[in-house]
Amino acid sequence: MTDLPVITHWIDGAPVDGTSTRTAPVFNPALGAVAKNVRLASTADVDTAVASAQAAYPGWRDTSQARRQGIMFNFRELLNARKGDLADILTAEHGKVTSDALGEIIRGLEVVEFALGMPHLTKGEYSENVSTGVDVYTLRQPLGVVGIISPFNFPAMVPLWFFPIAIAAGNTVVLKPSEKDPSASNWLAALMTEAGLPDGVLNVVHGDKEAVDALLVHPNVQAISFVGSTPIAKYIYETAAHHGKRVQALGGAKNHMLVLPDADLDLAADAAVNAGFGSAGERCMAISVVVAVEPVADDLVAKITERLTGLKVGDGMRGCDMGPLITQVHRDKVASYIDVAHTDGAEVVVDGRGIEVDGDASGFWLGPTLFDKVSTDSDVYLDEIFGPVLSIVRVASYAEGLALINRSRYGNGTAIFTNDGGAARRFQNEVQVGMIGINVPIPVPVAYHSFGGWKDSLFGDAKAYGPAGIAFYTREKAVTSRWLDPSHGGINLGFPQNA
Ligand code: NAD
Repeated sequence: MTDLPVITHWIDGAPVDGTSTRTAPVFNPALGAVAKNVRLASTADVDTAVASAQAAYPGWRDTSQARRQGIMFNFRELLNARKGDLADILTAEHGKVTSDALGEIIRGLEVVEFALGMPHLTKGEYSENVSTGVDVYTLRQPLGVVGIISPFNFPAMVPLWFFPIAIAAGNTVVLKPSEKDPSASNWLAALMTEAGLPDGVLNVVHGDKEAVDALLVHPNVQAISFVGSTPIAKYIYETAAHHGKRVQALGGAKNHMLVLPDADLDLAADAAVNAGFGSAGERCMAISVVVAVEPVADDLVAKITERLTGLKVGDGMRGCDMGPLITQVHRDKVASYIDVAHTDGAEVVVDGRGIEVDGDASGFWLGPTLFDKVSTDSDVYLDEIFGPVLSIVRVASYAEGLALINRSRYGNGTAIFTNDGGAARRFQNEVQVGMIGINVPIPVPVAYHSFGGWKDSLFGDAKAYGPAGIAFYTREKAVTSRWLDPSHGGINLGFPQNA
């Protein structure tokens, strides 16, 4: 154990051990073994990182847009060229398969590319001569030091949702990634340094509640961006707001896919499997409930079941479809819902326990699991299980399905599968959810729109990236100006007139 590598913080452009001796294990979930340990920051370590970001801020804020963009361009090129290395890190610590790891990085790269437009995106407005000789214009300026706290399930993409925009806009950053798969953040920070970013502009502290709490109350942190589970998102929102910070806090989800009787059932079955079991269901935009409008449920369940038997589960490096879960504890919790389903009277169509895997027997495996006729009172339906578990709920009509979705406490993503444009249009209008797919199961908006849910899936009013990201990481000044016209200042031989 003691010979295992130790992941340190990244402060002021270099690895830093920090003062805390506390560590947490980082597993390789496909091997079921501890592969590394990560340092867990003390409050003093967070203070050091914030001080580094605070010291770097005036210089970075005043660095010209052209120079900042040059560094972001370099970063984009380096990240694109070396994304395979980062994908290997993701697979080793998170477990997701290589193709999925690359997909997450490419969605993150999109945000870097969006941030390259910062000079255009932060242009102000100008109104000439609002009163005689008076002009009004707006400026968008950075906030200062901003904190980012990210979850385990997208160790590259979620940090990339935030720091490229924050930094390109002139802020400096302290990033606190998940302690379960921390290496990606250090790798990204080192790459930013290689791209030319001055020391202290992007710092990474690893840790748990102690580090998070230190960020939430720190007087020199101006804003907090958080992504994680709903109870923690709510806590972050309330605590950081109480300490006077701007906060965006994205939480958990339970995403429904409504399948109407006229839908293409093969397309819907493919979509349900891809969105339900990709990344072993550990996505906040995973589909976890298929709402089948009768009479299609029997056919749809048969088509989904047939597809599940063909899925290859195993080590993400070996070309499998689905990898392991993040920890043994999480794997066991997800698997426990199979017993809950039995008890609550659901039909367990596919039981993922004891599945054959292409990987080490000690890995945190659970195969694809499918429940049919799930009761909406059951915890299987109500909880965010966050694993390879898909529930089918049968309803009699579109209206019943819509009402079900709108009763959910979550409102992150949803999808409708239909060939009826009128029904789809009605759904997009009536459904109480932030991101909607029409024959698209995982409707994650592109980087120049913004990402975020409704209800308990997002606290505050600020979505992530896109125009919302620009608004979040900048604040506006309105300037009203009047310059003395030299013609006012002395002799006047007539002719030039001001009204
Ligand atoms: P989590 O809430 O356990 O952890 C998220 C972050 O909060 C981590 O950095 C963690 O160290 C920190 N944290 C955990 N407990 C804390 C506490 N008591 N006090 C302060 N900080 C604490 O979430 P997770 O398990 O890492 O990620 C999975 C969850 O994230 C799921 O609920 C998923 O839906 C959600 N998620 C949401 C989105 C979205 O955009 N809405 C995206 C990805 C993941």
